[in-house]
Amino acid sequence: MKKLMPIGLLLLLPLLWGCAVKAPQRTPQPIDFILLQLNDVYEIAPLEGGNAGGLARVASLRKDLLKETPNVVTVIAGDFLSPSLIANLSLETGEKIAGLQMVETLNAMGLDYATFGNHEFDLRDSALLQKRINQCNFRYVTANVRRVYTGGAIAPFKQMVKGKSELVPDFITHTFKNNLGDSMRLALTGLLLPFTKRPYVHYLPIEENFRRVITQAKTQSDVLVALTHLSAADDRALAAAVPGVPLFMGGHDHTHQDHYVENTIITKADANAKTVYIHRCRFDPQSKLLRIQSSLKYINPSIPSDPTTQAVVDKWVSKVDQTLRSNGYQPELKLADLKETLECKESDIRSRQTNFGDMTVQAMENAWPGADAYLINSGSMRMDDDLSGSITVYDVVRSFPFGGGFARQELPGSELKNLLDVGLEKNRGEGGYLQVGHISKVNGNWQIRGKAIDDKQLYKIVISSFVAGGSEANLGFLAKYKADEPKMLTTIKGKQVKNDVRDVVIEFYTGF
Ligand SMILES: [Zn+2]
Repeated sequence: MKKLMPIGLLLLLPLLWGCAVKAPQRTPQPIDFILLQLNDVYEIAPLEGGNAGGLARVASLRKDLLKETPNVVTVIAGDFLSPSLIANLSLETGEKIAGLQMVETLNAMGLDYATFGNHEFDLRDSALLQKRINQCNFRYVTANVRRVYTGGAIAPFKQMVKGKSELVPDFITHTFKNNLGDSMRLALTGLLLPFTKRPYVHYLPIEENFRRVITQAKTQSDVLVALTHLSAADDRALAAAVPGVPLFMGGHDHTHQDHYVENTIITKADANAKTVYIHRCRFDPQSKLLRIQSSLKYINPSIPSDPTTQAVVDKWVSKVDQTLRSNGYQPELKLADLKETLECKESDIRSRQTNFGDMTVQAMENAWPGADAYLINSGSMRMDDDLSGSITVYDVVRSFPFGGGFARQELPGSELKNLLDVGLEKNRGEGGYLQVGHISKVNGNWQIRGKAIDDKQLYKIVISSFVAGGSEANLGFLAKYKADEPKMLTTIKGKQVKNDVRDVVIEFYTGF
């Protein structure tokens, strides 16, 4: 099977600004270069039973591209330091891993440039984030993300580069040469949606700063492309509002897609390097035209793993493996072949009921039957990806990296309505949005198992202990109700299972 899938992206783009290449005696010849694009990578090793993704395979693909031309630049369009199961574990020193596994793997792979994604700011500890940025051999670039320093000063982030502290630039230029010595300068910038709020992060307006950077880059480069960590709708709107930038290498959406707006190509690969984009570019200094031919490449077992990168991956995978085994989990154990893709992207599970939520509440009911309704906060689900193909124990544990048990509470109907108003409406878009079982809303009225909720009746609910204890946003009032939290649960079949969401879901697949 041919793995390279040309998707017919081919544009000839007149550049908006003049070429700054010095005119030699002879006519300058075209300059070829390749941009290798990744986005939204949380897992360093292959998923789906080894069939999809894997950064050691991307490393070997990169080496193959380098045989075509030395002009290869590898980029990631944000979201890689978090979330993942491993990022939540700690080093022997007690320091949280917090993306170090990804930094070391991307360094080994040969990544050149990154822009921030919203998940880079999952880290609350800005000093630890700074440490991780400094550990990267690749350079960060962003036009609209700024750091809020102690005292409130807003200025660019910093990165240690070859022992020197440098500002993370609005754009960065990379010079490519052909074998005759003709050169061109490619400028790269980065943009991020203002999604993750942290006291240390400040977002500048996207369009205004994109325009500002384009104006600045004109004087210092031949062509500018962007790494955009935006929703596809925002990418399209930006390309329409600010035409003339030939390529947006995007992220944030986790399924591969391409869009053509005005004279901009927008591409996004699948999350977790299940696919990457290869952009083969030719810049003609005479006509000042840039030709881009983009193809989507599946990362699968047909690509060998690069041994250097694989060694780094293996080191981290064995650390996770040991941790999981010491907690009684068998990470590689396949639980099921999935009949349908389970939706667990944050944008889905924090705004609507998904089939991953349905599966989880069914697992809760299996482990703790007899309640009127089942509820779990979507913030406990941290995979930010969909599951397809098969599901393993590792997939379950990475879906719920914090674990956590369940509690049973008895609430009067009037308070249950408050819980649902908050958990299914007010908290929409946040981790406090609930995935639920046996709850519906008909003609504006909440129902349990198809019946209108009676204000005075007492209802038994099984709910995440974290939420029952009043720790979830806007749901502190639950703390006043008694929470029954046994260490072990007895399933429908009478089996004993540990009261932890990971064990409960694994039991759901294996217990029948
Ligand atoms: Zn994102």
